[in-house]
Amino acid sequence: MKIGFIGLGQMGAGIAANLIRAGHSVVVWNRSADKAGPLVKAGAALADSPKAAAADREVVLTMLADDAALAAVLSGEHGLYAGLRPGALHMSMSTISVAAADQITAAHHGLGQHFLCAPVFGRPEAAAAAKLFIVAAGAAADLQRAEPLFKAVSQRVFTIGEKPSAANLVKLCGNFMILSAIESMGEALALAAKGGVAKQQLLDVLVGTLFDAPIYRVYGPILVAEKFKPAGFAAPLGLKDMRLAAQSADALRVPMPLLSVLRDHLLQTIAQQGEDSDWSAIARTIERNAGL
Ligand code: NAP
Repeated sequence: MKIGFIGLGQMGAGIAANLIRAGHSVVVWNRSADKAGPLVKAGAALADSPKAAAADREVVLTMLADDAALAAVLSGEHGLYAGLRPGALHMSMSTISVAAADQITAAHHGLGQHFLCAPVFGRPEAAAAAKLFIVAAGAAADLQRAEPLFKAVSQRVFTIGEKPSAANLVKLCGNFMILSAIESMGEALALAAKGGVAKQQLLDVLVGTLFDAPIYRVYGPILVAEKFKPAGFAAPLGLKDMRLAAQSADALRVPMPLLSVLRDHLLQTIAQQGEDSDWSAIARTIERNAGL
């Protein structure tokens, strides 16, 4: 397929590389053009604007940091709204707010363009290995059109229905639960360590008994080895997701007291350990609070 790909950060670079590997024709654009180098070497063409990355393309994928980044790419005379031809499809893979997804859906439809939301689970290593989990929502025909692209970058796709923003709501629920698991694992590891039990021993027992799940298998070793830099998923992006989850919780009148704890711990982590920490560094914050 003729694809445009916008946003070559930690996740986007791996996804775009897999689309090229699968034989698709890919034009890329990134705000910092230098990040496109390896993809151009692999066969991508480099566009000089989001609009140019959409010209003559059937589908344009975006993998950007947040609502503001996506808005910046969409708008203006060199933006994606201006570049996407009628009938073409924009597939947003970023973790964005439900409200932004609803607004973008309406704007695309007003222009005769199609829109899907397809946020992902999996860290940059999973993106590079085409092992992402995709949560997709939108019109059935658009989901079908995107099928070959899903296949090239993921291990499984979950479809949520016709309303694109529903996929973002599911993604935000998932990220809330990932950080909840990191928080509880961090608290348990601090308790064990302060009581004289090695963290690795506790982790071996957890994943060997009732906690044999990817979330503990992926994050457990990161917490034990304290591998918080360089960040795979940067703490400020995690903070953004807790804020977006809280916005939906406010709008839908759903009290989520645990979410408030997670948000505060992330904020404390960023303040004390820096913007470049992984979000799992909340485990160090928890340890410090325990006097370790
Ligand atoms: P990242 O490495 O920080 O990349 C962010 C991308 O957004 C870069 O291409 C960046 O361009 C671009 N960007 C930021 N602000 C912009 C603006 N104002 N205008 C244009 N472009 C802008 O982030 P990532 O880890 O790839 O995450 C991307 C998305 O995937 C986020 O929504 C994140 O929540 C989600 N996600 C991440 C993970 C993970 O483990 N990392 C997992 C699942 C989902 P520059 O290169 O110029 O800065």
